[in-house]
Amino acid sequence: MTDWTQTTLTTWGRSRFARSDVSAPGDEASLRDAVLRAHPRGVISYGGGRCYGDASLDDGGQTVLTRNLNRILSFDPSTCEVVCESGVDFQALLERFLPEGFCFPVSAATASVTVGGAFANDIHSKNHHAVGSFGHHVSWIDLMLASGEIVRASRDDNPDIFRASLGGIGLTGTVLRVCFRLMPVPSGAADAEYRRIADVDEMIDTIEASRDSHEFLFGWVDAMARGGAMGRGILELGKFAPDDAGMASPPPVKPIRFQPPSAFLHPLVLTWLTNRRFNSLPSEGRRTRSGLGPFFFPLDSMPGFNRVYGRRGFYSIHTGFPQDTQRAGIRAVMEALTAARAGSFAAVMKPMRGAGDGLLSFPVKGMAYAIDLPRRAGVEALHRDIERIVLDHGGRLYVAKDALMQARTFAKMFPGLDAFREVLARIDPDQRFQSDMSRRLQIHAP
Ligand SMILES: Cc1cc2nc3c(=O)[nH]c(=O)nc-3n(C[C@H](O)[C@H](O)[C@H](O)COP(=O)(O)OP(=O)(O)OC[C@H]3O[C@@H](n4cnc5c(N)ncnc54)[C@H](O)[C@@H]3O)c2cc1C
Repeated sequence: MTDWTQTTLTTWGRSRFARSDVSAPGDEASLRDAVLRAHPRGVISYGGGRCYGDASLDDGGQTVLTRNLNRILSFDPSTCEVVCESGVDFQALLERFLPEGFCFPVSAATASVTVGGAFANDIHSKNHHAVGSFGHHVSWIDLMLASGEIVRASRDDNPDIFRASLGGIGLTGTVLRVCFRLMPVPSGAADAEYRRIADVDEMIDTIEASRDSHEFLFGWVDAMARGGAMGRGILELGKFAPDDAGMASPPPVKPIRFQPPSAFLHPLVLTWLTNRRFNSLPSEGRRTRSGLGPFFFPLDSMPGFNRVYGRRGFYSIHTGFPQDTQRAGIRAVMEALTAARAGSFAAVMKPMRGAGDGLLSFPVKGMAYAIDLPRRAGVEALHRDIERIVLDHGGRLYVAKDALMQARTFAKMFPGLDAFREVLARIDPDQRFQSDMSRRLQIHAP
């Protein structure tokens, strides 16, 4: 029998909470028990809880934590295929495989994301322009459906279930096991060059000009800069290093233990902080060789970083624009943000190579621009303005970071939604898998 406890869960943005019956099955039988337990508010899977909004929350319902489904089951160096349970996180993958000369091809910017969560949001990294998104490297999954049956889904077997589950935010079932390909790496380090960028045009132009020359491209944008400096920042241009020689030691771990008062988030303070960060880079730039852990997961040296936005938490607006509208779209978003004096420490730009294989995958060929915003008066209205700007430019918002998008916007941004609904109607007619996000975005029914 599965044990259930009533618990309050939240996610990275700390703006959404759910009181839910929670269990943490460690094997197929107890997972089946959990999935089959009838509940009018259904059930949802919860991995590392690193989505920002309500994708893994089911207030008043049931939640299956995947943390005990955490075994790495096999690895074949000749094909680079690893099979693991869905609750394995990227820290475990790094620790196990880097000493053997292998690394995951795609990760988020924190190692606490699980493989199940990476698949269910088809995550993309700062090397998307080079290697695509997580799903491009997945061979198959084993998925527990609402019936308790386990199906193997791949591009050849049950391809409709595979495409619906990839980026399907946990609504097709609980992913039990994932088989995906690692990549051999020449060393445990990455070489990065950091360049000062004067404005949004230079940021976009330099990223575009570097797509073929650099495996990793990541622009930190000074979200408080306005006028001619709007969109200025620091661009990281990275490659795998040929060896570990001269690798910098990892930054000291500095946990954030306090929640600063709201005065800390005043635009003047934020401007002072972002100026400081921009000016900390010498005008001639800098080159470093760092370990792959700090290179992939820079925020992990500040555990609890999400507390800096204070007690009310924060939202993220993660946009993606097709290449032909990316410049106008990103400019329009930045103008709306600067006009509202809304901004934070964290705004980033990354190139994307093209569409994912999931019906609801986020990436497109173009550019992603994302910003975290403290949750305060006026942010919801600003979000609605930005939704309209993104729609008008043929772009989309990323559900992994979302807590505010409206259902009608979501339907317009994701043309695969009808096909997704058809798969759900067939494999989960009673809507056993649901979440606060699925209800907010009216994913089951228009
Ligand atoms: C600091 C930080 C940096 C980030 N950087 C990036 C980035 O660079 N690129 C990017 O794409 N994303 C990024 N993200 C977002 C993150 O990668 C995604 O939200 C990811 O899905 C979180 O995985 P998780 O294991 O924490 O899952 P959760 O947050 O717990 O769940 C996310 C979704 O996955 C579903 N899910 C989880 N496990 C399973 C399972 N076993 N079976 C079925 N469904 C499941 C949940 O139901 C939910 O819908 C970042 C997040 C943070 C906090």
